[in-house]
Amino acid sequence: MRVETDYLVIGAGASGMAFADALVTHSDADVVIVDRRHRPGGHWNDAYPFVRLHAPSAYYGVNSMPLGNDTIDRDGPNAGLYELATGAAICDYYTRVLDERLIPSGRVRFLGMHDYRTNDTGVNRVVSRLTGATSDITVNRKVVEANYLQSDVPATHTPTFTADPGVHVVPINELANQREHSAGYTIIGAGKTAMDACIWLLRNGVDPGRLRWIRPRDAWLVDRASLQPLDLVSSIVDGASRDFRALAGATSVDDLFRRLEQDGRLLRLDPDVTPTMYHCATVSRQELTELRRIEDVVRLGRVQHIGSDRVTLDGGSIPHDPSHLYVDCSASGLRRPRPRPIFEPGRITLQQVRTCQPVFNAALVAYVEATRRDDPAKNALCPVNPYPDNALDWLRSMAVSVAAAAAWSAEPDLKYWLANSRLNFLRGASERADEPAMQEAAQRSREFAQLAMKRLRELIPVRL
Ligand SMILES: Cc1cc2nc3c(=O)[nH]c(=O)nc-3n(C[C@H](O)[C@H](O)[C@H](O)COP(=O)(O)OP(=O)(O)OC[C@H]3O[C@@H](n4cnc5c(N)ncnc54)[C@H](O)[C@@H]3O)c2cc1C
Repeated sequence: MRVETDYLVIGAGASGMAFADALVTHSDADVVIVDRRHRPGGHWNDAYPFVRLHAPSAYYGVNSMPLGNDTIDRDGPNAGLYELATGAAICDYYTRVLDERLIPSGRVRFLGMHDYRTNDTGVNRVVSRLTGATSDITVNRKVVEANYLQSDVPATHTPTFTADPGVHVVPINELANQREHSAGYTIIGAGKTAMDACIWLLRNGVDPGRLRWIRPRDAWLVDRASLQPLDLVSSIVDGASRDFRALAGATSVDDLFRRLEQDGRLLRLDPDVTPTMYHCATVSRQELTELRRIEDVVRLGRVQHIGSDRVTLDGGSIPHDPSHLYVDCSASGLRRPRPRPIFEPGRITLQQVRTCQPVFNAALVAYVEATRRDDPAKNALCPVNPYPDNALDWLRSMAVSVAAAAAWSAEPDLKYWLANSRLNFLRGASERADEPAMQEAAQRSREFAQLAMKRLRELIPVRL
């Protein structure tokens, strides 16, 4: 079978969907989306049953359809903050986006259960996972790699450690399927998934003394209260101004992190351990308090092998406890491939521009693609901002995000798009500019922004 289209989007995850939605809105292009899964939503289809968004639903999904009701939670660990969609709601949402928006546009086709492959002659070929039938796709404009960052979640990854037969190791997904209780639980992993496992166990009545947490690295965390949109958008504007103030006054990188922490801009789990990791993991203060109840934290690097008597880690070993269930939360979340320009002839590679805002970035790239002609101009508006990994990446991400925002502010149409994009967490900020908190933040930014950027360049060599 031969198929012809303007854009071939590889991957119907959150990024591919946000891109396709914005492209169809802002151009007359025809789009084919291919995914090896049966429905859109990407890794959310494999997520653990109690997963939720880590940041507000209000700015997640696609531009053309709201996710949730933009309400503020009254109870639970997210009380006072904008709602966080469940995994099930997110999967349902993407099915509705496809069925109610994209397909009815008459310009989008979805090839589910198809693997994308190129052959040596550069043909774009997709192969059905059900029939084996191949289709060659003629792409008139661009192939869009919405799979470049490759999510890596516990249900689908292969752990890097091994275990002796009889040792009970399960991915986090299996926790909700337990039929018998365990005497204790050993959580393996330092990221947000491990935190979700710990919080879920604690909230379901497991005593913190029965949790052992193997945490190869400690992470700098972001307070979810500082990422609140709409009526609470001053939290984001205020936070940015505080970052500028911390940077402007910092005498060294260590001093910068001390200032950011003192000002509540970054949080850590253990006051005695300096974090070395930064993955934009987001927690509420209540969640942080819960997590701090776990005292048995193992910091000996990554697990290599769980034997029938000892657990071997990079930096030593600990006794194996046969009564424990080992919970694998060690998937990296996102793989971090070599950055490449987002716009190239015949190809778009979706990556981050504003730090850790994957769906916003995908929609932004689509808008820029639809409204600009040449690739250098498009890349100038969408500089690649690799996902952060270590603490110093906080600085690099900040530098690229600020440079990108400065480039956008010189383009009136882009400013208009930003003001109206539901995926932009700053949407609504200008309407609230008269609020005292906004005024205060604006004043602080005016005072410190210039010096902050100078210090940022001095503290770390950043190629913008
Ligand atoms: C637990 C968790 C919570 C998160 N919470 C948030 C949050 O609150 N806010 C936020 O902004 N981000 C959050 N993230 C980050 C999240 O990864 C992104 O929001 C987003 O879901 C990533 O989507 P993606 O489309 O880039 O990747 P994926 O979800 O991995 O989608 C890629 C798709 O491409 C398909 N594919 C790949 N290769 C091929 C091929 N060769 N042929 C056919 N199909 C292919 C895959 O099947 C997949 O469906 C969270 C991540 C996790 C793990």
